[in-house]
Order: sequence, then structure tokens, then C-alpha cells
Amino acid sequence: MPDTMEILPSLPIPAHLVGEVQSKLAYVDEAVARGDVSPAGDQITLYLRHPLESELRDSLQEKVQRVVTSMVKGAFRPKVLVLEDFLDRPAGGYTADPHEELLRRGELSQEANGVYVLGPLLTRLIAWFEARFMELADSFGAAPYRFPTLIPAKYMERVDYFSAFPHSLSFATHLRTDLDAIDRFAQEAACNHQGELEAPSDSFAPFRTLLSPAVCYHLYFSLADRPLPGGQVVATAVGNCFRHEAINLVSLERMWNFTMREVIFVGPKEFVLDNRETARQRMAKVFEEIGLAYRVESANDPFFIGEFRKQVAFQSAFQLKYEIRARLPFKEATLAVGSYNYHQDFFGRKLNITLPDGSPAHTGCVAFGLERMAYAFLAQFGLDPHYWPETVQNSIA
Ligand code: AMP
Ligand code: ZN
Repeated sequence: MPDTMEILPSLPIPAHLVGEVQSKLAYVDEAVARGDVSPAGDQITLYLRHPLESELRDSLQEKVQRVVTSMVKGAFRPKVLVLEDFLDRPAGGYTADPHEELLRRGELSQEANGVYVLGPLLTRLIAWFEARFMELADSFGAAPYRFPTLIPAKYMERVDYFSAFPHSLSFATHLRTDLDAIDRFAQEAACNHQGELEAPSDSFAPFRTLLSPAVCYHLYFSLADRPLPGGQVVATAVGNCFRHEAINLVSLERMWNFTMREVIFVGPKEFVLDNRETARQRMAKVFEEIGLAYRVESANDPFFIGEFRKQVAFQSAFQLKYEIRARLPFKEATLAVGSYNYHQDFFGRKLNITLPDGSPAHTGCVAFGLERMAYAFLAQFGLDPHYWPETVQNSIA
């Protein structure tokens, strides 16, 4: 029986922040296996991996209160703008969680926490969505790109990523180019019972690269420190993305390693905003065709606690982010399967990407999470293609 800790938050957590605070409890302490915030926001329960001495419990309590204070104090409820609401579409009438069934059928297997191998059913379903996303990209004449999985630390620093999203970073390095270090590693490296690689601590080179958390950053980095070619750019790419969401990594809903298809716009403000809006309208037709139950509403990025309040207020005031939230009937909840984003001239300023008049370029992107798209579809229509919309069925057979 795991040890638990009940904590009364120093400030009541308003309903709109209950989920946000709960997701941050994953990062509070390695001793925490799970953290729940009561729906009323007046009680926090931590499930511990092992019993803690009272001193450590005090420090844990203090860290939890720090999360609550930074996120709740002075926060106001952002106005949620709903642009499309088709949540009551009947979809396929399926009501189970597809995750277990996918595992049972060998359509899904877990390699590590939040890291999955997808079988043929999921792969074909994702290919169907990918074809629709490519039609969207083509409708804008988007140029195709292939971006690397690694992303340079020095650029991530330039766009303030370390202060905004430190909690979910993933790092990539290699062995030091030193024969002694390589020899020692070769002899001593071994995984312990927890699957952790143990090796001499001086084996590794400094971190110059991370694993990409998003796709569009690569385009902006490639355009840095020069005038924007042709004054406007539309590009598309699919790529592996990494966000380590600690104990929140439970199913295809929340992965460490997932894939994203993006259509990316760089140019003057109106160009970016108009294209973002056109993209939304074009995607509404695709979702209508398959009868997906979803809603598009204003949202915010999962900024870390210190940055959270300020950034969320900013994103909300300028309507910078809308999410496509598909219904998950098995838990009467919604899941973000994609987003329509406008970054103003943030990347243009930070990366010195200039328009012909010398002003910083504006950027925006439409981003689809491929695994989540397939997962939400299966949650609504089930695993048997017989019950799928005909157009999806036909191209998968
Ligand atoms: P974002 O840039 O945060 O709007 O992400 C774009 C899309 O990527 C989201 O709408 C999700 O569909 C997907 N996504 C983001 N984080 C994850 C994750 N941890 N696991 C799976 N999909 C994700
Ligand atoms: Zn993007």
C-alpha cells in the first residue's frame, strides 16, 4: 500500500487551474508516484513511492505550496473562446478506452515510459490523417521539409525555451572523444534493475543538443539572422517530438516521444493570421466528413510554474492558441489533437528574421499530434474498421 500525503493548498485552486496544477505535481519530487487535486480545488493528495521521514515530508509540502502559490496567486480565469463546437456529434458510439485493447492485440507495445511502437492498424490510420494534412499543406502551396530530431541548445536558449518549458526538456549527448573514456565506458556501462544506464560520470560530452520538442522551431532556426526569402514562407514537415511529462505519461494520450505534422507560416501579421484561420476552416470540413466529435477553443501552452501566470494571461489576451479538442467518450473528457498557433513576432525578434520593410517577421503554425489524432479517433469509432466512416475504411482496406 503506497504511503499518501494530504495537503491543504495555501490558496484554493480555482476550477480552471485544477488540471494545470495537477499536471505540475508530476515534477515536484521523485518520491511522488501520483498527485491528485480534488475537483473542488481544496485538497491535494500525493501518492508516494515509499514512506518519507518527517523532514522530507515538510520539504515536499513546501514544494507543493510553491507550485500552488506561483500558479494560483493573482491568476484570473481566462475567457475561453469557442470557435467550433461539434462535441455532441454521435461519432461511432464506442465507449471503451482503446489503449488496453490495442496492447492486447499487439497493435501497441511500450518500449519505455511514454515510448511506444505502433502496429499496422494505427500506422495505416495515421497515414490516412497524414494524407488529409498533406492536402491542407498543398492547398497553401507549402514547401516540404525534413527536420532533424536533434535541436541545438544555443538556439533553444535564444527563444527562451529553458525558462518557459524546463520541465519537459530531453537532452542528447555522446561519449567524450577520449580513448580512455570510451574504453572505460565499454567495460563498465551496464543497466541496473530499474533500467538505468550506469557508467563513469565523466563519460559524456557536454550537452550541445536536445531532442526537439516541436517541429516549427527548425524552420525558424533555419531562417535566422537574415531577410525572409520572398517576404513570406509556407512550409510543412512531420517530425519526432519529445516532451518528458514525468508521471503524466500514461498512454497514447501523453507520450514522451510522439510525432507532429505542422504547416508553418512566416511573413507579415495578416498573412499569418489569415492563413491560420483558413487552415481551421479547411480542417473543419475534414472533421465533418468523418463525423469527429470535437471542439476548437482558446488554450494555452503548458508553461512551467514560474512563467505560467504571466504567459497564460498573455496568450489568452491575444488569442494566440486554439486547440482542436476531440471527445474521449470513455472518460467524458476531451484531448487536444492539434492546435492553431500564432506567435506574433516573437520568433522574428528573437531570431532576427526580417520582412522586406526591416520589421521582424510574424509566425504561426498548425500542428497535429499524429498518435493522439489516431487515439481519439479510435476512442470514438472503436478498433473494428467496419464501424469506421466509409472514407477512412476504404483507404485502409
Ligand atoms: P502543441 O504545440 O503543444 O500545441 O502540440 C501540438 C499537438 O501535439 C497537440 O495538440 C497534441 O496533439 C500533440 N502533443 C503535444 N504533446 C504531446 C504528448 N506529450 N504526447 C502526445 N501528443 C502530444
Ligand atoms: Zn509549431
